Amino acid sequence: MSLTLKVLIGMALGIIVGLGLNLSGLNSAGSFSQLYLVDGLFHTIGKLFINALKMLVVPLVFFSLISGVCGIGDIKALGRVGSKSFALYMLTTAIAIGVAIMVAVTVGIGEGMTLPAAADFSGTTAPPLSSVLINIIPSNPIQAMAEGNMLSIIFFSILTGISILMVGKQAGKLIEGIEIANAVMMKMVTIVMAAAPYAVFALIAKAMADLGIALLDQLLGYVLVLVGVLLLHLFVTLMLVLKVFSGLSPALFLKKIRSAQLFAFSTASSNATIPVTLRTVTERMGVNNSIASFTVPFGATINMDGTAIMQGVATVFIANIYGIDLGLTGYLTVIFMSVLASIGTAGVPGVGLIMLSMVFAQVGLPIEGIGLILGVDRLMDMVRTAVNVSGDAVVSTIVAKSEGKLDLAVYQDPLAGIVHGAEDLQINTPSYHS
Ligand code: ASP
Repeated sequence: MSLTLKVLIGMALGIIVGLGLNLSGLNSAGSFSQLYLVDGLFHTIGKLFINALKMLVVPLVFFSLISGVCGIGDIKALGRVGSKSFALYMLTTAIAIGVAIMVAVTVGIGEGMTLPAAADFSGTTAPPLSSVLINIIPSNPIQAMAEGNMLSIIFFSILTGISILMVGKQAGKLIEGIEIANAVMMKMVTIVMAAAPYAVFALIAKAMADLGIALLDQLLGYVLVLVGVLLLHLFVTLMLVLKVFSGLSPALFLKKIRSAQLFAFSTASSNATIPVTLRTVTERMGVNNSIASFTVPFGATINMDGTAIMQGVATVFIANIYGIDLGLTGYLTVIFMSVLASIGTAGVPGVGLIMLSMVFAQVGLPIEGIGLILGVDRLMDMVRTAVNVSGDAVVSTIVAKSEGKLDLAVYQDPLAGIVHGAEDLQINTPSYHS
């Protein structure tokens, strides 16, 4: 049985148990099952797993990116990969939000709805672009790593890689060591992934048990339009972009990306999913590490198609409820702001709401309006993160293909790089001694 199937089973059981607890009211506040099961066992297992994934991110990005840069070995090629992926990330995000606004306006989502009682929401602000740019160069790389500051870590790793190349022959052993460290980190990814079926069960059971189903009927229109556009983006837009720019088979892509999507869905964090995305893109799709080690962490930070779609749908929804007409300039501002906000914000749970408050402030929509969609945001966060991660993988694959760094044999083999779970965790003692 493949790991993806096991994770799916864990997820299905998590939905059944979590929804069962929620609908039966067994997990009412202070009840035994809420205290010891949902907030106790499920919460602990889920958090342990997310910690384990996050633990991998910084060393993995650091080692894989240095070996990637040394693998490319050419600064011009590096620049090309950087600009191609940046352009594609921005393009897909802009299309995503453009389509989202068009669909939401056409459907007239939220029109004529009376204002339901809003949960409290006071906006937090995302960092201004100038500070995002300034922080790309870390004054202290160790601090950047401790804080998981992805753009700074990317910068420092690339610079380290370039400097190693410049040192040349003398640094040969160092490159070798870093490549080995990268292989070790990749093994660690497999170890953590093997725990996923149980952890995903716990994460989903907790999310479902905590879910505010009561709000769902009021927000059904919003949820349906949002999920509809997210699926449209995943299955139509992104697959068209993949086909047009690389000629590769979308069907194979969709099959191979599933495990990364499941991890993204369960953790609601593109950042925490980086290890799985990186593994999926390199070992399942055949993207060379020299490309993926850059495009994946870069994408997790600056590319958020799903989140942009949420911005579009939520803006139209709340503007309609408040009876505010944003007009064409308003919507163009929303598109511009969302694309911009996606650059400066990290792929962590709930960051979409921070971006949304930035967009609202810009177009003059009431920030409290965001309170209206809070009730379903966690669930929507899970879905949009799966779309975010898929976008990162699409762009990585396209860039690799265009640079001649995609192993077609791997891409076309449906079973390449598949993880089974515990069976993959053999310790290679004999080869270690030899
Ligand atoms: N959770 C999303 C991500 O990590 C960001 C968001 O939409 O809130 O990609």
